Amino acid sequence: MTNNLTSLNRGFVSLVGAGPGDAELLTVKGYRVIGQADVVVYDRLVSAEILALANDKAEMIYVGKKLDFHCVPQQQINQLLVDKALEGKRVVRLKGGDSFIFGRGGEELEILAEHNIRFEVVPGITAAVGATAYAGIPLTHREHAQAVQFITGHVQKDGQEIDWHAVAQSNATLVFYMGLKQSGYIADKLLTHGLSQDMPCAIIENGTRREQKVHRGDLVDLAILAKQAQSPALIVVGSVTTLHEKLDWFESC
Ligand code: SAH
Repeated sequence: MTNNLTSLNRGFVSLVGAGPGDAELLTVKGYRVIGQADVVVYDRLVSAEILALANDKAEMIYVGKKLDFHCVPQQQINQLLVDKALEGKRVVRLKGGDSFIFGRGGEELEILAEHNIRFEVVPGITAAVGATAYAGIPLTHREHAQAVQFITGHVQKDGQEIDWHAVAQSNATLVFYMGLKQSGYIADKLLTHGLSQDMPCAIIENGTRREQKVHRGDLVDLAILAKQAQSPALIVVGSVTTLHEKLDWFESC
């Protein structure tokens, strides 16, 4: 009986991707579950407009992280989700972009699964998709790129080195997340593994937000471009980036 009651009282966690910035890029499903939540546990990159969709009575808990500076350790976030769910709450775990793309969504769900807590995943538009769309840079294009790679630029601290040989493909578009600080290293590796110095690239800062800026140049100048860019930013390497000049629609709106 007690066990039955405990399982009935268990809450539910929705892992929701908030998209890259523009609040209108939230999914209809994300919009609904945020409005129904008792507790919203959110990260730094979630916009104020999206947080405002929560019920006035919802408990709002900020657990944001910055590169090299973790406000709340991951283990504590995991525990918080478990605790709130065990209190029987409807919890929304809200993250920037998509939770499964460099968002540690998988790690958080593993802990919930280990505690037999029910959950769902509501995908979001990841920065690579949103920011390039708003910059007029198609990730694939028959004349430019037949593949796309999403790569973490947070290379050294993560421990595992990237397989640069596999990454440095001139017929693929490369999108580096969290790469601004490591841009010099990334460019060096791509050049030594065969990409040419004049391979076009772009840095998109604040993608899909009103402050969005696109910096364009060649791979050899990537570190210089990165110095002019603000975080959050994506590095895009590949000849598709030249289409920005022709297809840019957002900054000129
Ligand atoms: N889960 C997120 C990524 C989190 S990692 C997603 O799917 O988008 C954080 C990195 O995402 C930042 O360092 C930056 O590289 C990128 N990023 C997030 N929002 C961005 C935005 N609006 N414009 C450009 N890059 C962004």
